[in-house]
Amino acid sequence: MWWRRWLPACLAWGCVAALCGSRGLCPAPNASRPEPGQCPRRRAAELCAWALSSDSLLDPFPVDVIQENYVRNVRNCIFSIVYPTPFKSRVRLVAVSEDVLENILDLDVSVKGSSDFLEFVSGAKVIFGSVPLAHRYGGHQFGSWAGQLGDGRAHLIGVYTNRHGERWELQLKGSGKTPYSRNGDGRAVLRSSVREFLCSEAMHYLGIPTSRAASLIVSDDDVWRDQFYNGNIKKERGAIVLRLAKSWFRIGSLEILTHSGELDLLRRLLDFIIQEHFPSIAMNDSNRYLEFFSTVVSETANLIAMWMSVGFAHGVCNTDNFSLLSITIDYGPFGFMDSYDPNFVPNTSDDERKYKIGNQASVGLFNLSKLLQALKPLLDPRQNQLASQILEGYGEYYYSRFTELFKTKLGLLGENENDNFLIAFLLKEFWALQDLGKHKLFSEWVTMYLLRLNSNKGDSDTKRRTRMTTVNPRYILRNWMAESAVQKANLNDFSEVQLLEQVLQHPFQRQEAAERAGYSLHPPAWAKHLKVSCSS
Ligand code: AMP
Ligand code: MG
Repeated sequence: MWWRRWLPACLAWGCVAALCGSRGLCPAPNASRPEPGQCPRRRAAELCAWALSSDSLLDPFPVDVIQENYVRNVRNCIFSIVYPTPFKSRVRLVAVSEDVLENILDLDVSVKGSSDFLEFVSGAKVIFGSVPLAHRYGGHQFGSWAGQLGDGRAHLIGVYTNRHGERWELQLKGSGKTPYSRNGDGRAVLRSSVREFLCSEAMHYLGIPTSRAASLIVSDDDVWRDQFYNGNIKKERGAIVLRLAKSWFRIGSLEILTHSGELDLLRRLLDFIIQEHFPSIAMNDSNRYLEFFSTVVSETANLIAMWMSVGFAHGVCNTDNFSLLSITIDYGPFGFMDSYDPNFVPNTSDDERKYKIGNQASVGLFNLSKLLQALKPLLDPRQNQLASQILEGYGEYYYSRFTELFKTKLGLLGENENDNFLIAFLLKEFWALQDLGKHKLFSEWVTMYLLRLNSNKGDSDTKRRTRMTTVNPRYILRNWMAESAVQKANLNDFSEVQLLEQVLQHPFQRQEAAERAGYSLHPPAWAKHLKVSCSS
């Protein structure tokens, strides 16, 4: 039958100067700073009472022996010490995530009104305990080994361990040149920073593993960009996002060490990552790298299935943008599909359509095969063989997660042998849900669907509706919404950035302000041919 042939194709498309210390702005940092895991009674309202630490990243590894900031090929280290370059002009704080400030960073939201905070999040002041670092990594870009890449415009400014005992790595993006800047200027423009700020927060509230964004600042510094690579170079403004992740290590973090034969460092980095972030793996287990690989394989499959469940295309699925913790990182020319098209490519710079949405699952497999290549020197022949078998299981794992997610979206309970068909039929024919009823095969699909719902044990329409509305978002960050916010932001009106930040915190709940803004409607006609490029 046609659909049986088509189903496997689903895989394809589913197919130190401290802020307070040496610069003398505040009194010495609060000596009674709580120990990790202890809950302070109040959140810090001033940054003087707040600190970061870079020790846990500096102590385990050799650091780049050169400390001057010039572009070079770096070897035998994981990080280079390099300070952010402050903007020359006035900076303004234009958006914050209160949830990140309060619930991750233990900061009182009133802190956002202070000049210390503004200077901190714009890279002008280094907070107590922070030694800013740029990470050395490589990567496969669009299928080929690209050599050294690294944090070319990001500074890892330290680790914050919060009152819940969670360890978060803080990074400024757009904060100036590093040894890894290659030909870049170390900056990020406002439009791409607005998009990263909004989308990382939106993905979090959709329940999709992701880095977070704490703040967005804009400067008046000129940053020149040829947005569509057509020779039309324009002046834009530099911006910085303060972003957070439990870890910023990527597949490319390991790849570069294997490529340059630094196997001792490879082992040390892997052991560090496993110890810090994979608590279920025992450090004395001789199969720990295999276990690590197995976890990354299944969690990457899980992440991509989740992307697909909301129609999210990352846009630049290079190995340097694929997290070892399987979270969504490095938001660039991403996009959410407005109506289903397996050939949807959000990134206009992707001429070969390599990272079209329908390729994400198979690109995930490619990236994991590059991870395996990087791990190979540390595996014995038996482990190598087992690792290949683990990788072979990726497709099945991906497909089962994908099916599970779509079953939940459709409100299906229990098991039925025709569920795959029901989902495949829906996705193939009816993804543009608003036009669902107009499709010639709709009544056929609905008949099957209603029949299937009858087999939901102990269910009712009310119960099912409640379940379904908690997994099918009413609002996602469609391209036109991000674009509308960016256009206003370019005119110094940040109201829509703030509105979207608020609305997307509750993507499953109908909200009046969002309805008025048209966020649950078809995209407006002006947005039909919107383009996003790699230029950022
Ligand atoms: P991305 O596509 O943003 O993930 O970046 C790929 C690589 O290019 C990373 O090594 C970035 O640090 C680097 N990069 C991108 N834009 C710039 C820039 N404006 N200045 C310096 N490095 C950059
Ligand atoms: Mg990147």
